Amino acid sequence: MILVGLTGGIGAGKSTVSAMLAERGAVIVDADQIARDLQRPGSPVVDAMADRFGADIVNEDGSLDRAAVAAIVFSDDVALNDLNGIVHPAMQDEIQRQIDAHRGTGRVVVLDFPLLAENPRRGLQATIVVDIPVETAVERLVEQRGMDEADARNRINSQISREERLATATHVVDNGADLDSLAARVDELWNELLMLDASDPPA
Ligand code: ATP
Repeated sequence: MILVGLTGGIGAGKSTVSAMLAERGAVIVDADQIARDLQRPGSPVVDAMADRFGADIVNEDGSLDRAAVAAIVFSDDVALNDLNGIVHPAMQDEIQRQIDAHRGTGRVVVLDFPLLAENPRRGLQATIVVDIPVETAVERLVEQRGMDEADARNRINSQISREERLATATHVVDNGADLDSLAARVDELWNELLMLDASDPPA
């Protein structure tokens, strides 16, 4: 397998690039999707959270009341630490399970991790950063996601800077232009990824 990471700031185009890589044959390990799946009604993670924080954090339909959890951990570092102690190991186990399923296959496995630059991961053969200017991100978040402009700027400002993220890249995907230009860059990137060593990274 060829194991690579994919990241970018909010609204940079990670999901769009992921989908394009999947079309070309990549396996995507999607951290946001895994986090959502782990919080499904009846999952062991939700049960463990209810044991720690009380049944009030679970809605009547069994889904997690994220606002209730956020309210508890917001001002309580011990609670936040406990929450991380429940969620992180479950996330890591599921990520590892999905990676291991492709050992020995020669497939390109892409870890789509929004916070990869903040939490670097060892063993990656490449780190792909999807990059756009801050003003383009604001524009897309407002126009295509209906986000409030101030909210978009706050979220961008709460992440690490564009420069710090770019410093972690082995491959940069400039997504400042149209989708056709992006697809052309992804074709080029795909060929670059296929040239990497396909012997499995250590477990
Ligand atoms: P998030 O950080 O919220 O998960 P993301 O990095 O996954 O976002 P996308 O959802 O892929 O970003 O892209 C953000 C928005 O911009 C989407 O509505 C997407 O369709 C649009 N978009 C992505 N690339 C382009 C482009 N080159 N031109 C125009 N719109 C684009």
